[in-house]
Amino acid sequence: MDTNDISEENLQAQTEENPQKGDEPKAKAGKDKKPTDFNFWRGLQTVLVAAFIVASLFTLWTPGSLVESGLEAKMAQALESAQELGGVAPEVDPEEEARSSRIGIVAGHYGSDPGAVCSNGVTEAELNLEIATMVQKQLVDLGYEVDLLEEFDAKLTGYQGAVVLSIHLDSCEYVNDQATGFKVTSALSVQDVAGSQRLVACISDRYANITGLPYHAGSVTDDMTYYHAFYEIAPETSAAIIEAGFMNMDYRFLTEKTDVVAQGIAAGILCYINNETIQSNNNP
Ligand SMILES: [Zn+2]
Repeated sequence: MDTNDISEENLQAQTEENPQKGDEPKAKAGKDKKPTDFNFWRGLQTVLVAAFIVASLFTLWTPGSLVESGLEAKMAQALESAQELGGVAPEVDPEEEARSSRIGIVAGHYGSDPGAVCSNGVTEAELNLEIATMVQKQLVDLGYEVDLLEEFDAKLTGYQGAVVLSIHLDSCEYVNDQATGFKVTSALSVQDVAGSQRLVACISDRYANITGLPYHAGSVTDDMTYYHAFYEIAPETSAAIIEAGFMNMDYRFLTEKTDVVAQGIAAGILCYINNETIQSNNNP
């Protein structure tokens, strides 16, 4: 059609009439070249700007924002799971904390047999129970949840807590003049070996410091190392057994300073639970 021709003519006319566009013919002369230049510089500029922005994004945002977004994601997840639990979540954590700071104290032989029996009729079981009851009271007074357990307590099966400690005493019979003091050990094959070893170190250290009793090295027996409770409790629960003294040479101390005996044991448990440092060399 002629319409195009007409409009072209019109445009031509307008251009020619417009003095401001008088340069256009000159521009027309370089028309084949200029757009190329324009595209090249524009392209280069775009590339540089993009590179600058990307670089800025990385340098400015990477360290902080990734961590932040990680935290945000975790918080969002936590909120989601809290909502899924119907708002019970805030109460779940303290419960789990309580379970993880729960303490089981086994009064050796209690509920089972008398253990060692002295000539005056005093049994190891009753002394163990007296000590264990005092340890329990001291820890409960500090806000801990403490189970006083029998030797073969049903609660020991799968027991979940920070610590299980079994309290025993050594023989009433005179052995020799070196038969004084205490010893502590953990199982050789529990899952939480490191935790149990630290528990042993904590109790040995605090018990020696507070009671002044010597560590009776070399008298840890298989009865201690392969103590039944070690294999009954939950594997993540740290466990140890203490023979807190000899009922022969340490008898007066054990019966007259029972509170100090209990204090030494409680301090050892707290050392472990509170991750306190051990300074002296009373470790076995
Ligand atoms: Zn015993």
